[in-house]
Amino acid sequence: NQEDDSGAMGDGIQVYVRKRPLLEHEPKKKEFDVVTCVGDRRVVVHDCQMYADMKRKYIENHTHTVSHCFPESASTDDVYARVGAPLLDHAKSGGKSVIMMYGQTGSGKTHTMTGFQEHIAAQLFETANTPWDVVLSAVEVAGSKCYDLLRKRQRVLVCDDTAGNSKLLNVGEHVAVSAADVLDTVQRALAERATEKTAINSVSSRSHFLCFLDLRPRSNKCPARTGQVVLLDLAGSERNEDSFLHTADRRKETIEINSSHMALKQCVRALGTEDVSGYVPYRASTLTRLLKDSLWSKNARAAVIATISPIATGASVLPTSFQLIVEADTEHTLHTLQYASLML
Ligand code: ADP
Ligand code: MG
Repeated sequence: NQEDDSGAMGDGIQVYVRKRPLLEHEPKKKEFDVVTCVGDRRVVVHDCQMYADMKRKYIENHTHTVSHCFPESASTDDVYARVGAPLLDHAKSGGKSVIMMYGQTGSGKTHTMTGFQEHIAAQLFETANTPWDVVLSAVEVAGSKCYDLLRKRQRVLVCDDTAGNSKLLNVGEHVAVSAADVLDTVQRALAERATEKTAINSVSSRSHFLCFLDLRPRSNKCPARTGQVVLLDLAGSERNEDSFLHTADRRKETIEINSSHMALKQCVRALGTEDVSGYVPYRASTLTRLLKDSLWSKNARAAVIATISPIATGASVLPTSFQLIVEADTEHTLHTLQYASLML
């Protein structure tokens, strides 16, 4: 199923890689671009030799084949047109669509997601009389706990219905009246998230953000089913092995983030192979429990956008010879690419 270049693996799930550009301030900090997208499918992560005069020589040594990569020149509009728009259409006709951002902190997950939200909000209200109500809820999943971002970060319980799907018990809902209202509500939710003060690192790097947009039919007319778009801004994929995180709570949280990423990967892989007989470990994490109903139903489609940072940070340069650059981010980039290719 890796033969075409559409990013498709079966109908269910598509995995894309998006490389962000080098940001303006980064070269000043001796950070430079060591990632090259070659064509639509190859991502090369270079090792780099730096010479004393700051000239550098790239060695091509980690090539990953992915189902589709967007180079830094691709705009969020480009990415949306290819990845988001078809999934929104699917939801409009009563299907379930999940769009996930996966990648290390600083690689462009939120940037991509914000752009997607703007497009989706606009397209949901592009005609005056939509046949459905747009119902929004937003939660944060931190470890095994879930918080309602439309209700002042109140704890919300996850429970199972008779069909074995996990639901959020009494989660706050907002019926949006316009595109601007959708965006305002999402902003309100994100602001709620930012008020969590206990985290040492930024909240967004340590918890998942989920935004559900249900399209509920107003009458029994077409479309008869509730369509849904789930937008998912995942916790930073960097493995938090930070030695300064000494507290037991922090370590527990780290383990839970890593295991929810792992559970998600296994669930997504199972979806991709369309092996419905195989065991899918949905129950392994709160995140996958919450996504089960959306990901694992007949009319479900999903896309993963694995975002990667281009940078490696230059270490001190030896005066006469060259040295291999110590690559802080490269390791994370390789990890993300590996995660993305394992999903294939
Ligand atoms: P993450 O959510 O993965 O931690 P962000 O989305 O916050 O990362 O991106 C980190 C920084 O990089 C932000 O300043 C963001 O504006 C910028 N950025 C990310 N992706 C792009 C892009 N494709 N084009 C331009 N700037 C980007
Ligand atoms: Mg972010």
